[in-house]
Order: sequence, then structure tokens, then C-alpha cells
Amino acid sequence: MAPQPDANINSVLWSKTIECKHTKEAVPVLNPRLTTKLLQLNRPKLRTVVGMITGHCPLNKHLSILGITDSPLCRACMETEETPIHVMLQCNGVAEQRAAHLGSSATLHEALRDLGGLLSFWSELGWLE
Ligand SMILES: [Zn+2]
Repeated sequence: MAPQPDANINSVLWSKTIECKHTKEAVPVLNPRLTTKLLQLNRPKLRTVVGMITGHCPLNKHLSILGITDSPLCRACMETEETPIHVMLQCNGVAEQRAAHLGSSATLHEALRDLGGLLSFWSELGWLE
């Protein structure tokens, strides 16, 4: 089946967007399959996943931008900014939980392939509640 004309226009617009750096790293190209999976989540789970995609979530980097916390540093390692990418892909302080729930994803895009693993990872950490 050929793509819908609107889908092509949206794909071109998304590929040309230079803003939304965090979201573009998570979703480099429009992904109807991901959209379908997201629309099947309940509201709290959808909030968590969208926060991971956009970076707009109650992690210290975003909270410091909003003026809610003084430090943007990661609460587990205190070495760098606490962002979804750092916590889900890089932080040594949560390596055990990451290995158990997320496997060895190298990119945020890869981590989004297993929404169940992503949600159980954040649920175990309890940082977003
Ligand atoms: Zn860390």
C-alpha cells in the first residue's frame, strides 16, 4: 500500500526540523508502528514514554531547567546531567537495572523498541513517581 500524501508531507517536515533535538534522537524518522504502540498505552505509561522521547520528564536535567531543582546532575552517579539518554543508556549507577530491563540498547531509538522493558526499568527505579 502506498503511503498517504499527508504522511509524506509530515515525513519531509520532520526530516527538516532542526529543533526537538532529544525527540529526533529517539524518533529519527516518523514511525507509525511506534505511534500505534503508544496509543495502546494507558495515560501514566504514555506520559512516561513521551517523557523519555522528548526529555520533558521529572529527571534532574529538565527539573533544573524549570527551576524546580538546583542540580541537573544524575542522582545515581553524580557525574553528568540526568537525562533519559544518560540514565537509560550510559549511567553506571543503574547498570544492573538497565541490564535487567533494557538489555544492551545503544540508542534511545533502540530502547523504544521494547516499551515493556522501558516501563519496567523506570518503575523499578521509581524516579518518575
Ligand atoms: Zn548517572
